[in-house]
Amino acid sequence: MKLFEYKGKEIFREYGIPVPDGSVAKDVQEAIGILQNLKHGAVVKAQILSGGRGKAGGVLFADTPEEMEKSVNSILGSKLKNLNVSSVLVEEKVNIQKELYLSITLNSETRDVLLVMSAEGGVEIESNADSIVTLSLGSCLNIQKYQIRNLLYKLQLPVVYTDQVLAIVEKIADIFRDYHATLVEINPLVITDDGRIIACDAKMNIDNNIIPYDEKVQDIIHSDPESYSSEYFKLENGFDYLELDESGAIGLLSTGAGLTMAVVDKLIAAGISPINFIDIRTGGFRGSTKRLEVALERILKSPNAKVILVNVFGGITDLNEFATLLLQALKKLNIKLPVVIRLEGNNFEMANETLKAAGMSAINSLDEAIDMAIELGVKA
Ligand code: GDP
Ligand code: MN
Repeated sequence: MKLFEYKGKEIFREYGIPVPDGSVAKDVQEAIGILQNLKHGAVVKAQILSGGRGKAGGVLFADTPEEMEKSVNSILGSKLKNLNVSSVLVEEKVNIQKELYLSITLNSETRDVLLVMSAEGGVEIESNADSIVTLSLGSCLNIQKYQIRNLLYKLQLPVVYTDQVLAIVEKIADIFRDYHATLVEINPLVITDDGRIIACDAKMNIDNNIIPYDEKVQDIIHSDPESYSSEYFKLENGFDYLELDESGAIGLLSTGAGLTMAVVDKLIAAGISPINFIDIRTGGFRGSTKRLEVALERILKSPNAKVILVNVFGGITDLNEFATLLLQALKKLNIKLPVVIRLEGNNFEMANETLKAAGMSAINSLDEAIDMAIELGVKA
């Protein structure tokens, strides 16, 4: 999961990385209030879970309340990089002498962690690829001060800044480790006119696999359930559900991320986008219809839902147990939509008997099931 800049900067501040003073605002009045506590005017920054805001017009300046009103109004409520902007970060404008680039990132290709730096940071970093230097930190984030000093020497960073930058590198390594990040990036890391080093931006990605185990990360999700809606859903319910097309006709009730993606691909190849992606994880049912109810209720919220396509491969899962719970959930929620059920694997025959006794039946072939769902959902 990605963090907003303001959240990243809160973490930076906690770890002693210098960031500009400021805070988040959700309207003009709040933004003007923050401006009044700043000494040198403000920078106003759209808070969206994406970079490239500078180039897209999402970073503006304001020295007076009038300018603030104008800046905030042009950013708030707009769409940037296809994302809605619902808050801005208002902070002290920094006078920039030089922009550096600094990040620690997971390199899944080489299976290690990489320190990446450049003396040509800022919004043009992608086109300054030649200026980038890297250092492998291994999988244990093994930081040797002399190696970092070497790197800074290669970048021709004036030696007066070496200790400050070195300290920041060590701190972002701590953050990377403590937050199970896959990326911690500061671009630009600024040398100010008066010779201070300040993180003017903060970008963090956290490995979603840590969410169930890390309270700090859970707190971030709980602080903004709307922005982290899919992470919040998984935390509350123990399985993945992503809305793909609110106006779709086919709702998926399926287990296994790969298997579900295969179904989504087949539907999209047929020109149909399903309502949702789901990995309901039958192994977590523990005899309860809870997950089925949650998933079915979510699907039914879609205004054009016409058919539910169930797809379960029973490896360890006993399909008869699954079928029994499915029937209970359908009955409990009084579901009237047609349900196409594709089952394969452990205890299929008995599952089918159970379904037949309730006037339904299972299909064994995935392609047939998909065709039938399309027939019932789209062509009917
Ligand atoms: P991004 O484009 O989404 O990465 O947003 P950034 O926070 O990196 O801002 C983009 C650019 O705006 C930076 O590279 C800086 O050049 C500029 N910028 C951001 N904050 C300040 C500031 O406080 N003072 C000045 N002078 N420029 C800033
Ligand atoms: Mn940036």
